[in-house]
Formats: sequence, C-alpha cells, structure tokens
Amino acid sequence: MTFAVHGLPVARGIAIGRAVLVVSSRIDVAHYFIKADQVAEEIERVRTARNAVAEELQKLQASVALMGPNDAPHELIALLEVHQMLLQDESLTGGVKHWITDRLYNAEWALTTQLEIIARQFDEMEDEYLRERKADLEQVVERLLHRMKGTAAVLAPSPPRRKRPAEVEDDGGEAGAGAADAFDVPLVLIAHDLSPADMLQFKKSVFAGFVTDVGGRTSHTAIVARSMDIPAVVGARSASQLVRQDDWVIIDGDAGVVIVDPSPIILAEYGFKQRQGDLERSRLARLRHKPAVTLDGQKVDLLANIEMPEDAVGAVKAGAVGVGLFRSEFLFMGREAQRLTRLPNEEEQYQAYRRAIDGMQGMPVTVRTIDVGADKPLDGKSPRDDGHLNPALGLRAIRWSLADPAMFLTQLRAILRAAAHGEINLLIPMLAHASEIRQTLSLIDFARAELDNRGVAYGAVKLGAMIEIPAAALTLKTFLKHFDFLSIGTNDLIQYTLAIDRADESVAHLYDPAHPAVLRLVADTIAECRRQGKGVSVCGEMAGDVAFTRLLLGMGLRSFSMHPSQILAVKQEVLRADAAKLEAWARQVLEAEEPSELLPPTGG
Ligand code: PEP
Ligand code: MG
Repeated sequence: MTFAVHGLPVARGIAIGRAVLVVSSRIDVAHYFIKADQVAEEIERVRTARNAVAEELQKLQASVALMGPNDAPHELIALLEVHQMLLQDESLTGGVKHWITDRLYNAEWALTTQLEIIARQFDEMEDEYLRERKADLEQVVERLLHRMKGTAAVLAPSPPRRKRPAEVEDDGGEAGAGAADAFDVPLVLIAHDLSPADMLQFKKSVFAGFVTDVGGRTSHTAIVARSMDIPAVVGARSASQLVRQDDWVIIDGDAGVVIVDPSPIILAEYGFKQRQGDLERSRLARLRHKPAVTLDGQKVDLLANIEMPEDAVGAVKAGAVGVGLFRSEFLFMGREAQRLTRLPNEEEQYQAYRRAIDGMQGMPVTVRTIDVGADKPLDGKSPRDDGHLNPALGLRAIRWSLADPAMFLTQLRAILRAAAHGEINLLIPMLAHASEIRQTLSLIDFARAELDNRGVAYGAVKLGAMIEIPAAALTLKTFLKHFDFLSIGTNDLIQYTLAIDRADESVAHLYDPAHPAVLRLVADTIAECRRQGKGVSVCGEMAGDVAFTRLLLGMGLRSFSMHPSQILAVKQEVLRADAAKLEAWARQVLEAEEPSELLPPTGG
C-alpha cells in the first residue's frame, strides 16, 4: 500500500530505490559494507562473540546455581535460560548470516538489522509474555555487540555495488521494479539518525538518497547529506519505523516527502521529475568555467565547504575558487571503525591538510580548527549521554580546544606546517569572549615557537574568526582588532540568536534564516568588515541557498562558501544579479517586519 511520510527537504532531487534500514541501538555501532572476500571473516566474528557470550551466560548460570534457593530467584535462572535460547535461535543467527552474506553488511549492522526485524515480530505478538521477550533479545544482542567491540576489520574503501536481487526479477509488475536499472538496484538509506562518523562512511557509499527520522535543516546529518549531493529528507519522524527493509521508496528532496511502496502512476511521475532534474543539472554544468560576476561587474568568490581532503576534487570540479570552510573535525571522527588511534597525530593531520592544498591546485584553503561537541560528538558518544543537558551551549568548538591545549597545539602545528606548501587561512570557531581570543592567539604563537624550537618549517597564515554567536556579532570591533578576516556561520548564528536547536526537528519551523534579528547581525558584520577593509564571507548553509543569494549580495557580501553541489546554482543567481540595484532593496528588507515577504527588484 502506498503511503507518504513528510520531513524537511535538505538535499535536492529525486531518488528512487530499495530501502536499506540502519536501526539505532543503545550501543553505538559502525555501519559499513564489507568486501565479498571478508564475508567468512565477518561471520566468524559473530560466531566468536556468540561463543563468548554463551560461555559468559553459562558462568552466570553456574554461579546462580551455587546460591541458595533464597538468594537466587527462580526468575533469574529462567531468564538466563531464555537468553541462552535466544542467543542460539536460528531466526537471529540465520538472519545475521543473510545480511552479511547477501548484503555485505558488517557484523554489527547485520545484528542490529536482524534485531529490529525480530523485535517487530515480538511487538505484534498477542501473548504478553512473549511480547516482553523483546527486551531479552535486545540484551542478548547488546552483549554480542559489546563482545565484538575492537574486532572489526578495516573498512572497505569503496563498498561494492549490489547486484539486482532475484526477488526483484520476480516482482513482475510490482511498482518500482521497472524504474530500476536493469542490473543494479539503487539503494536508499533509512535511519533513525546517523552519526557524523556514519555519514562519512556512507559518503563513500552507493546510496542514491537517504532519510532520517530526526534532524533539522542545518543539523550536521543534513550538512553531510548535502555534501553527498544525493536527495535527502531529515526529520521524517517515524520513517524508520514505517519503512521495511527492501521496500521501494521515492525520496523527494525538493518537497521533503518520502513515498513508500509507490504505485506505477506515482512512480512514472517521479521518474519524469528525476529526468527533469538531470536536465537542469547538465544545463547548470555549462556554467562551471564561467567567472562569477554580477551584471554590474562585481566579482564574487564562490568557495567550497569540505569535510575531508578528498572532497577538494569535487570542489575544483564544481568551479570553486578555494575552500572557504574545511570542517577539520571530520578527521577526528569515526576512527575506531577504521582501527585508527583515537585522535589523529600531528603528522597525520599535516598530511591531510597538505592533501587538501594539493587537491585545490594552488587555490586557498581555509581550515577551521576542530569543532566537536553538540551534534558532532567524538567517539560517536553524545554529550547528552554524559549528562550534559545542553551540549550546544556546552564544551564545543574553541571551548573544547582551549580545554585541551595539547590537542589544540597538535592541530595548530599541523596546520602551520601545511601552510608552508600553499595558501592556508586558519579559522577559529565559536569565539565569543576577548579572553578566548587572547588565549587562542597565544596558543598559535606558542605552536609557532614549538616549531621554531624543533627547526621545522611552517608558513604564514591569515587568521580568521567565525561569527556564529550573537555576542561575537555584537562586538565586532574586538574581533576585527585581532583577526584578518571573519566568516559568518549562519547555522549556529541562527540557532543561538533564535534559541532554536538546529538539530531538533520539532522546532524546525521556527528556525528562520530570514528573521530580522538574524539578518541584522549578518548585515552589520558584512558592513563593518567592508568598512575596515577586512575579508568577510558566509559559510553557513545560507550561503548555498539560492533564496538568499541576492539579499547577501545586496548586503555587500562578495564571498560565499557552500557545498560544491550548490555552487553552480548560486553562480547562476550571481550572473543574473545587479548588485547595485540590490543594495537599496536589501536596506528595505532589513527594516521589514516580515523580510521574507519582500521580493527582489526586477532586474536586480
Ligand atoms: C555554521 O555554524 O554556520 C557553520 C558553518 O559551522 P557548523 O555548521 O560546522 O557548525
Ligand atoms: Mg558552526
């Protein structure tokens, strides 16, 4: 039966494919595809863990048996027996084997997928006693997952594309089958949530689109989705509950709609939309080598936001004239799954920054120092798990770095060393206090002195601060005294100005980039930088949103940093704009109570 789930559109386009479900478990597990020749090894990991858990349970049973009847409640003995049974149950073990063998899921993903399937069966049982066994099954799987920690193989660099399964051939006239490639089935990812580390894995993956239950428009899940340049919907609430493995799904990344089990008519309509989108993309591709200059001759820099050094290739291809934001924290995430040290050392970081420089072929690269915390936890563990109720207001970004000077200095040395090989701008996130500025600057000096002492070469960098806390936007003079340039992080600036958690879909309707207070802070920052002859750019999602291109041009912005996938659409807007005409209009917008109601002037 066809049904639709609504969420927030975060990455444009239409994807049609079979659902691959990633379910969340209480234990944070890695999700990745293994290579076909790793199947036996992966099954062995599960078997070894199962034997170890069986032994663990046996020991428990033995120790319980030694207790007197008064100390060992009958229920406990029965419970341990149930756990043993569940552990050996064919529906668990057979299912896990299937996901590993046929779908090439890593063992942890296979286990949590099968857990979800059996758990749903338990939920549907009439017998209350049996229904309650779901919790036991969850405990057994958690024991297995604990046992498997640290035994994962190194990830497959490029996951295999799955062949069209026989069952699809059998579908006959079933909706969707005709839309799929003759040999490969496009896969779409459905998850409750994805950690930024998971997202990085999937970024190298084959998915044609994805959907998450949670997340706001500028949550980090949405940001990485956008960088993958595949249609995506976040905040779809219960999508991961309603969609089943292998369901045919249409993701409409323009409207924020997910259509499950579509009828042939709906499918045909979306197939048409998909082709239209492809045409539009190839039309835009012609702008790639065209300089971004407005009708009245204003040159505009369109820069790229990247998460990994390898993204530089895509940035150059998209026509970026540099990297305006390298979110370096992604070098620090998902390392356990890759069997790497907890944090990247100086040499590893230095090499990564150099790869970004090389990838950009002589164009400038702005490296932002680590911004972890809030919805970008290190080690996949949310700060909320540690009892922090408001992680977005807690130890995040520069606060984290200043609290761990050794880690910060390691990163600073690596960046300074990389600057000997190309133009690097060093960008500091989330500053608010003059004291933080002072500490940061003295640590940068200290890093230089350490390199001098070691006799290691390093280069000059321009220093920049992100303006993403209203307090910073209201004390620009202090910032401009110390920094060469400012970069406006509208994602956080909106979050902190409007008191809206950017990752919380339940308040996503109030997350308004066009709120007069937000526009005022952005406009004042641009104007003050221009007045003082300092560089200024916007690197939040607003910079890549064509709905704001003209307004930002009218405010005087000439440097926009965004995901490579958005560059050409923004360039098209720039080419059609008359910056001089937009100035007067932007002033009107800044005075308006409802700025979004004011349309740009014709020809502006
Ligand atoms: C921002 O806050 O706008 C920004 C660019 O930084 P991030 O999205 O990584 O917090
Ligand atoms: Mg930010």
